[in-house]
Formats: sequence, structure tokens, C-alpha cells
Amino acid sequence: ANASQPLLRLDCVTRRFGGLIAVNDVSFEIQPGEVKGLIGPNGAGKSTTFDLVTGVRRPSSGEIYFRDQRVTEQPAHTRSPMGMARTFQIVRLFQGLSVLENVQLGLHPRFPDGMLRSLLHYGRLRTQERESRERAMELLSFVGLADRAGHSIEELTLGQLRLIDIARALAADPVLLMLDEPAAGLNDAETRNLGEMLALLRKRGLSMLLVEHDIDFIMQACDTIVVMDHGTRIADGTPAEISRNPEVIAAYIGR
Ligand code: ADP
Ligand code: MG
Repeated sequence: ANASQPLLRLDCVTRRFGGLIAVNDVSFEIQPGEVKGLIGPNGAGKSTTFDLVTGVRRPSSGEIYFRDQRVTEQPAHTRSPMGMARTFQIVRLFQGLSVLENVQLGLHPRFPDGMLRSLLHYGRLRTQERESRERAMELLSFVGLADRAGHSIEELTLGQLRLIDIARALAADPVLLMLDEPAAGLNDAETRNLGEMLALLRKRGLSMLLVEHDIDFIMQACDTIVVMDHGTRIADGTPAEISRNPEVIAAYIGR
């Protein structure tokens, strides 16, 4: 693909729920290496937009392109192998499994010579299991939680669970990481810790879409920010640009 091609493109996307227009003719792009924020007051249409990008819902009209491919109607499970990964607002990790095993679940099983041949080669399977554990450990170290690898999920704080969910999402080696309200419910120290983690990923050039209502958090974390209100895009620009946009100020201060 051409280097100047956007990674993600929403083209006049609308989503209706009956008579209500949750997302109204919204367009924006994410360039390779860009961290894009999506903010707006309650009911602005952020979660619905996120669901349209991840494939959880379909637009009523408009188009969505990811890496030059039209994905408008593609279900979520076909978007992840293309390089999309997401975290969940309410962290969905498996209670019965260890922290390490939860991260391993994010790894795609790789059977380069076909499933059957791999199954016939037990040595290779053992190697794959070891490699999978090593990769999951690397990811846990990256999010600063290697010392929790053997712990069960129940023993962790919400802030730690968010980081493990990010490690699980990174295990799939995505080109676009999408985070749904990553700072929700976190205390100040946990939020700072999360912010540092996202800054590291940003420095490594990972493209991200962050949906948040914590405006201070998003100002720090993003290159550009889309602001929504009542389903429409009211601004799209750098943190400096959107913070002096009168429409943005009105949408936040007006309520
Ligand atoms: P945000 O995440 O910015 O708070 P949402 O995308 O959740 O906003 O919601 C946008 C609008 O769409 C709201 O008015 C909400 O009530 C409505 N909405 C969201 N999901 C549904 C649904 N499944 N059915 C009907 N209305 C919905
Ligand atoms: Mg929401």
C-alpha cells in the first residue's frame, strides 16, 4: 500500500436506531502511526462509531475502509486478522485462567505447515507452546506486569486488568489498536500508568483509536482528536486546535 494512504477511513457514515440518528454523516481518517482520539459528551455517538469501526454494528449508510479494503459490512471476526485489535470497556478476561494464559489467548495460533502436519509433529507443538509463553511474557513485561504472570485474574486491580487487556490485544500484533474508554474507573496513579503505556506504543508507531470522555487524558495521548456531539462530527484537529474551537467549548461547557 501507498505510504500516504490512510489506515482507516470513514466516509459519510450514518447509523440509525429506529428514528434516532446516533451517528450522522461522520467522516474521518487515521493515518499510519497516528493516534486519534474520539471524544464528546454522553450520547454523542462515540460508542456507536467505535462499534461501526470494529464491526460490531453495520452503518445504515456510508463506507468504512481499512488498509484500502472496504470493510463496511464485514463482521468483527474478519477484521481482526486484517490487523485490527480492540480492548473492552468492561474488561473481558477469563476468571479461571492465569494472567499469562489470558495474554496467550490473544495470540493467533500459527500452523505454517498446516494443522495436520503440526499435529503430527509433537516436538513442533511443544516449541509453539514455549514460543507462545515467551511472547506472552514479553508482552506482560512491556505492560509492567511480568511479576503477575502466574496470578489469577481475581487478584488484580482494575488498572492492572486494563493493562492485561491491552497486552492481550497486542498479542495479535495489530496495526490498529482501538481502546474503548481505557481510563474509565481508574484512579489517578493508574491513569498515569496507562498514559505512559500508551505513550510507549505511540512512540513505537502503533496507530490507535482512543474513545474517552476524560478530555485531559485524550489531549495528552493523541495526535488528533475527533469531537462528536449529537451524532455529528463538530471538530477534527490537533489538541491545540480543538481546545480553541468555539463549537467544542460550547458542547462541553453548555452542559
Ligand atoms: P456515547 O458513547 O457518545 O455516549 P452512544 O453511541 O452510546 O453515545 O449513543 C448515541 C445515541 O444513540 C444515544 O442517543 C443513545 O441513546 C443511542 N443508542 C445507542 N445505542 C442504541 C441502541 N442499541 N438502540 C437505540 N438507541 C441507541
Ligand atoms: Mg459510550
